[in-house]
Amino acid sequence: MPDKYSAVWVSHSSMGDFLKCPRLYYLHNMYKSKKTGRKISIVSPHMSLGVAVHEVLEGLANYPANERLDTDLRAKFEEEWLKVSGKKGGFTDTDEEDEFKMRGKDMINNVIKDPKFLVNKCVKLKRGEMNPNFYLSEDDNIILNGLIDWLEYLPLSDSLHIVDFKTGKKEESEASLQLPIYLLLCNALQKRKVTKASYWYLESGNIVEKELPDADTAYRDVYTVARKVKDARVKAKREGEDSVFVCPQGPYNPTTLSGGCMYCRPYEWIISESDMAEHVGIGGFNQDMYIIKK
Ligand code: SF4
Repeated sequence: MPDKYSAVWVSHSSMGDFLKCPRLYYLHNMYKSKKTGRKISIVSPHMSLGVAVHEVLEGLANYPANERLDTDLRAKFEEEWLKVSGKKGGFTDTDEEDEFKMRGKDMINNVIKDPKFLVNKCVKLKRGEMNPNFYLSEDDNIILNGLIDWLEYLPLSDSLHIVDFKTGKKEESEASLQLPIYLLLCNALQKRKVTKASYWYLESGNIVEKELPDADTAYRDVYTVARKVKDARVKAKREGEDSVFVCPQGPYNPTTLSGGCMYCRPYEWIISESDMAEHVGIGGFNQDMYIIKK
């Protein structure tokens, strides 16, 4: 039996980092502070808005379908907002926070006005303390994990509809591994077929139905990236992280503050203890949380 604790865990977010750049993957997913032994994370207003709204909507799956609309979504949003309010949520002043909170409230109001799939039966993937996960490859000891926002049950076809809540304005790129990953998780962790997938843009209320990838292509695409992540980690163990997770454009220089790009520079600031980064607490996954100065 393979050992889950020694496995390489991959997700949409970590593979997305790796595809942007292996060093970004290292900084965000592997690096641990020499002082605290914790990984590092950056909080931002966009992320906090997404977390608060997702918590409210995903929490509805815990209620029977006919009781969901009886819950006070606005009150629940206020409760969730308290957890991200202020610097710990990445907000540097009250105007900025008010603007983001108002956007969240509008999204919740849109859902109350037109709850779409949320009033229908849904399915939850089994999970323990960790996100739903399965062995993408036992031979390679790679585990794929992820949290699907909503799985609507479609009674006529006895199948499932994957729904992803979008709180940002940016469209998911066509090359994104998100749907392939969700499809693989559904296929591995429950018996019904997935027949539909949609992105729900909560600000505009638009639903964009997406074509489902076929399972073999999804597996091939996800496994290819996951295997590269695993290979890089194995190589780094042998040769050292700084020689494997290198910037293809030349390294960041903490003395001149030059080099790096928008993706990695904030992490480099944290590591080099630049005053561009401020520690604001410890996150839910025991990571050191930072806010970045504008
Ligand atoms: S500057 Fe280099 S290390 Fe940083 S994210 Fe861009 S490519 Fe990666």
